[in-house]
Amino acid sequence: MQSQCLIDGQWVAASDGRTFAVTNPATDEVIAEVPSLSASEATIAVEAAHDAWPAWRSRTAADRGALISKLAHLMRRDAEQLAQLMTLEQGKPLAEARGEMAYGTAFLDWAAEEGKRLYGEIIPASVTNKRLLVLRQSVGVCAIITPWNFPSAMITRKLGPALAAGCTVVIKPAEDTPLSALAIGELCMEAGIPHGVVNIITGEPNALGEAMLNDSRVRKLSFTGSTEVGKLLMAKASKNLLRLSMELGGHAPFIVFDDADVDHAVASAMACKFRNSGQTCVCANRFYIQDGIYDRFVSKFTTLIEQLKIGDGRTEGVHVGPLINNDAIAKVEAHVDNARSHGGTVRLGGERTMLKGLADRFYAPTLIEKCTADMQIAREETFGPVAPIFRFKDETQVIEHANDTEYGLAAYFFTQNASRLMRVAEALDYGIIGANDGVPSTTQAPFGGVKHSGFGREGGKYVMAEYTELKYVSWGMVPV
Ligand code: NAP
Repeated sequence: MQSQCLIDGQWVAASDGRTFAVTNPATDEVIAEVPSLSASEATIAVEAAHDAWPAWRSRTAADRGALISKLAHLMRRDAEQLAQLMTLEQGKPLAEARGEMAYGTAFLDWAAEEGKRLYGEIIPASVTNKRLLVLRQSVGVCAIITPWNFPSAMITRKLGPALAAGCTVVIKPAEDTPLSALAIGELCMEAGIPHGVVNIITGEPNALGEAMLNDSRVRKLSFTGSTEVGKLLMAKASKNLLRLSMELGGHAPFIVFDDADVDHAVASAMACKFRNSGQTCVCANRFYIQDGIYDRFVSKFTTLIEQLKIGDGRTEGVHVGPLINNDAIAKVEAHVDNARSHGGTVRLGGERTMLKGLADRFYAPTLIEKCTADMQIAREETFGPVAPIFRFKDETQVIEHANDTEYGLAAYFFTQNASRLMRVAEALDYGIIGANDGVPSTTQAPFGGVKHSGFGREGGKYVMAEYTELKYVSWGMVPV
């Protein structure tokens, strides 16, 4: 376990010795103390990334790709230990942590190859003695700020393409889950990624964020986190007119039409809602179930929810782990109470589950019927294992309700009617659509939102645009 920060290839503590504790959310045990760096130490990290940039961008894409592939190889070698570490600091069931390791490593594999395909263009000129060239070049030093819910994959999804494009990075992981990030740093060093290309800093977010965003050597901010913090950082990033990628919160509708395959819809709802105890940006927040299939869907959904095993993520067979911290569980409780007070019927769960010897941070998988648009749960991200059910009659009405949110990250719907499938996919105002699919996210596809869910895309060939600038070279006096 690495518990120091990585700056210019060196593992460092805070110069004043300050640290903060990382705890296991399932038990409240302290796992490690990590440095609480100062703003001036963040500036040193930026300087290291800036100094490393010219040499890194001058390497061939194949050369950079080989180092990224080496990193991916090392992550696969250590996948089991990294998954254990992730469960320890984040709480998700071990099987999910293993899944995240595979998912996250695949972004490195993809980027290692995609960097070799950063083609430029030659545009036909309107005069014979000119050639118009378009080059794609790396943006420069990137500040990368990531959340706790996917402590490893949210880093690799940015790190891989940034490095492949020739950028250098300063990563600030979430305070709740810095150890997975520092472990990636350890493997970057083992892979032979040059000093200063990858820097990882931990500490008070505001101070570190400002140090990075106020430094004109930083050219881009790639942020994944809440909409609230995203907006704050966007305002701060305006000082140096940074390039931005904003992967923010969501409020996903999950629509089941009468003509859906009910078993498939229920299985997809389980994966979509209860993964990571409901703490994913793309998890279903509003279940809209059509009249004709309503009873069958709710009955089957209830049966499967009742089978979920809640407990410490390290215990074999556990499906639902703890929520990340006390604020998180307090928010879930507030949303459920609010739904109750607005006439919602709590059919399952609706309270904390107390488990012997564990922290009081486990919330019972919950199903609430008779939900309405005026409930908090219908508008704000709950980020917990709570499934609010809304009943609807027709397609036009449900699309209106589904789009009635400030968010626009992921939306899901289930139907076996092909013409409805395309019509609804086009009508939903979201960046990611799961059409008969509860888990659409994958390496080769563009991931990202619209509206208050942010902008920019991660994944596939599309992500490379986030880390490159177009440069136009007009070449005159070409001999004719
Ligand atoms: P968050 O509170 O916004 O924090 C995200 C990151 O920003 C953390 O590293 C946090 O540091 C840092 N941060 C907070 N305030 C800051 C400031 N003033 N200056 C600089 N950095 C600051 O979000 P979270 O609770 O970690 O994650 C959950 C949210 O992320 C949800 O809204 C979820 O939907 C969203 N999310 C979106 C995606 C996507 O791809 N669209 C993926 C995953 C999660 P500290 O941890 O140290 O506070």
